[in-house]
Order: sequence, then structure tokens, then C-alpha cells
Amino acid sequence: MNDARMPALFVGHGSPMNAIEDNAVTRGWRDVAARLPRPKAILCVSAHWESRGVFVCVAQKPKTIHDFYGFPQALFDVTYPAPGNPALTRRVAEVVKGVPVHATDEWGLDHGAWSVLRVMYPAADIPTVQLSIDTSQPGAFHYALGRELGVLRDEGVLILGSGNIVHNLRLLNFRDPTPPDWVTRIDAASRARIERHEHADLIDWRALDPQISLAVPTPEHYLPLLYVLGTHRADDDVQLFNPELFSTLSMTSVQVG
Ligand code: ZN
Repeated sequence: MNDARMPALFVGHGSPMNAIEDNAVTRGWRDVAARLPRPKAILCVSAHWESRGVFVCVAQKPKTIHDFYGFPQALFDVTYPAPGNPALTRRVAEVVKGVPVHATDEWGLDHGAWSVLRVMYPAADIPTVQLSIDTSQPGAFHYALGRELGVLRDEGVLILGSGNIVHNLRLLNFRDPTPPDWVTRIDAASRARIERHEHADLIDWRALDPQISLAVPTPEHYLPLLYVLGTHRADDDVQLFNPELFSTLSMTSVQVG
């Protein structure tokens, strides 16, 4: 393993309440932040910024976006004032050769980013940039983009994918967190592929299981995983953490490198 290279992370983010709660999942986020080298900057690919085309947010002071409803006021009161990083946005556009990356200041940090980062880096003092997800594109597109972005790991940038491998809110049972069999099975199948670096099966995730359309009813929470796996190089270790399953959500998280 190359110590000079920043690991990349995929984090299962689950409920926005994790931003202000203390539980096994948020302790997992804190622990991983404590064991990583301090990043010079963070490039976040969050499930909650979907687009047609690929965009990077160039705002100098990214706003905290409260993109949810029905949660306590305490969550709407949270701000995460991490600075932006225009130099990193220019590097993103340089290293990505396969597709144009458009600059925009019409975003900020959505809860897929700040709910996790507030726990990992509460001082909000690491410059943070978000990259959008063009959800009209197939898995191979996102994996290839992750591969190109992976060179930023050598420049001290933490690439953070934030989503959930299994994510079905329609079937989520708040009263009974016991996961249905298909959640346990598909999460385990994903974990096994991640550990064995069998990325082709994950890029083409729709063939992973007969009930995959329950686990991934829409792709936006799954796709951030492919960016992080795309950064994997032959000498990188891979560690899984946060194995919690909550009804139809899998919190499974991955550290590459
Ligand atoms: Zn989400």
C-alpha cells in the first residue's frame, strides 16, 4: 500500500438524522476519519445531486442545502460552512478526459455530503467540492469517471462517495428494522464482490440478483459506490465497515486504500 495516496471512501449515509445523532453508524464515520490522513480537500459524489451531464460546484462558499422535509427543526438549523475549492474544480475538469465537466455555482453541499462530513470533520475546515451524478448514464460510465478521478488521491484529495448500496424508502419499515431476506442477500453479494475486486458484477449490478430492482429501485444511491471502486489500484487494500442493515437500507461502507 502506498502511504502517500489518500484512501477513497464509499459511505452509506441513510437517514439525514445521522448528522445530529450518535449511533453505531456515526461512530463508524468518526473512526474512519480518525484513521485517515487529513485530506487537503474533499471531492464528494452524493446520491442527492442528479443531473444530465456532469457538473462540479465552483462556489467559494458552498451553501448547506436542506433537501428533505418532515424532519425536526434541529436538522434544518444545521449548517456546514466548509469552504469550496476552485483549484480542485479546475483539476477535476483537467483529469476527466472522457466527458466534459461543467462548472456551476448553483449547488452547494446537499445532505448526502454534509450529514456525513459534519460527523467526520466537525470543524468544517477542509475545502469541499461536489460532483454531480449523470443518472442517465450506465454503470461503466461512472466507474470510468472514478478511474480518471482516482489520480486526485495522489494529491491529498479524499474522494467520498455517499449513497446506500441497498436503498428502498418505499418499503422501509421504521417500526421493525429487521431486514427482509433480499436486503441481507444482496448486501452480502455486494460485499463479497467488493472484497474480491469483482467489479464487473457491480458495474452491471442489474444482473446481481433476481430481486435487485427492490434493492436499487433507482440508481442514484448505488452509483457513488462505482466512483470509489473506480479509483481502486492493484496495490490498494479494501476494507468494509458499518455493516448495519436497517429494514430496507444497507449502511455498508467501503475504504479503498
Ligand atoms: Zn440519501
